Amino acid sequence: MGTLLKCYKPLFSIRFSPFPNSLRSLQFSTRSFNHPKRRNPIRRCFTSLSTSSQPLINGKTVEPEIPSSDLWLHNTMSKKKELFKPKVEGQVGMYVCGVTAYDLSHIGHARVYVTFDVLYRYLKHLGYEVCYVRNFTDVDDKIIARANELGEDPINLSRRYCDEFNQDMVHLQCLPPSVEPRVSDHMPQIIDMIKQIVDNGYAYRVEGDVFFAVEKFPHYGQLSGRKVEDNRAGERVAVDSRKRNPADFALWKASFMRNIMIHLCHAFSSLFVPNQSAKEGEPFWESPWGPGRPGWHIECSAMSAAYLGYTFDIHGGGMDLVFPHHENEIAQSCAACKQSNVGYWIHNGFVTIDSEKMSKSLGNFFTIRQVGYRSLSSTSFETFLNGNSLSISNQLL
Ligand SMILES: [Zn+2]
Repeated sequence: MGTLLKCYKPLFSIRFSPFPNSLRSLQFSTRSFNHPKRRNPIRRCFTSLSTSSQPLINGKTVEPEIPSSDLWLHNTMSKKKELFKPKVEGQVGMYVCGVTAYDLSHIGHARVYVTFDVLYRYLKHLGYEVCYVRNFTDVDDKIIARANELGEDPINLSRRYCDEFNQDMVHLQCLPPSVEPRVSDHMPQIIDMIKQIVDNGYAYRVEGDVFFAVEKFPHYGQLSGRKVEDNRAGERVAVDSRKRNPADFALWKASFMRNIMIHLCHAFSSLFVPNQSAKEGEPFWESPWGPGRPGWHIECSAMSAAYLGYTFDIHGGGMDLVFPHHENEIAQSCAACKQSNVGYWIHNGFVTIDSEKMSKSLGNFFTIRQVGYRSLSSTSFETFLNGNSLSISNQLL
């Protein structure tokens, strides 16, 4: 009997309607986004609309219509569908959490990015100027572990799989985002944000690590509906007895060798603490807390703020990111800047296989290439990814 793949219904709904005067074509240059500046960053993401770019009808310049918003989105924050209204008329800032690049992407990933590609296209169809930011995580424990297995530099390994991911996206006919920032290129922004969070009293330092104190943020749990007392440490963070609360999460992780040396120094009552060491092959950056690397969640807070500002319209990803990743992002962003606000939190459903979530950690996944390249045309694959359910037999694979 063939293995069954099942998709849940997408969580956002689109009501299509004709917009005959939505004639404005939007053009983006991704190159202009490669050097984020913190001041007024949202303006850097949007091209200005000059009169020369407006359409001519019967020889007369026609003022572009304000985009009509006939789009309803399921907002995970309010737990209901809401009529979409952007923060700035005519412009939409959208941030979607990207892949951690250490292997080929599976069709669960495809579901996420096809879903948000449909939303991106529709927003453009409505006439909005859209800045779509989709990051790559290229600094992460899983990347380091895989690189060590293969004897490869972690950043190089990650770059290789970023390229593979982009090939998959081309095959799926997903439009490229406006900008695809990588963690390793945004360390100053990440360190700046952690400093801000520490200065505002929401984080504490333990030796070379920095942890976010969830009890300092009274709204923690507002997205996921979880209470602080119910929370355990995030999936990617081992329980650490040095934390004040098990739910506290890492903003900055001291490099492995620094931790070893600190423990040795404590054991031998040494008077010095080394500040410049790292495991071979483990990427690290200098920071006010010593050499190390960022925790997983802070990158998206820092990169979304860098390109879209602290308030923007849509933040999205797979529903597995609601907790802890997006919950932690909200806490971090608000701790760094009280005015932080995302209009709509949008999450798509899992792809399941035999009723279990498809994931690399469970080993029950099919890569996009296994399914999409061999078995189905890209159009029918996209239909599958956006549909309610579809069964695929192993014979097809
Ligand atoms: Zn993210």
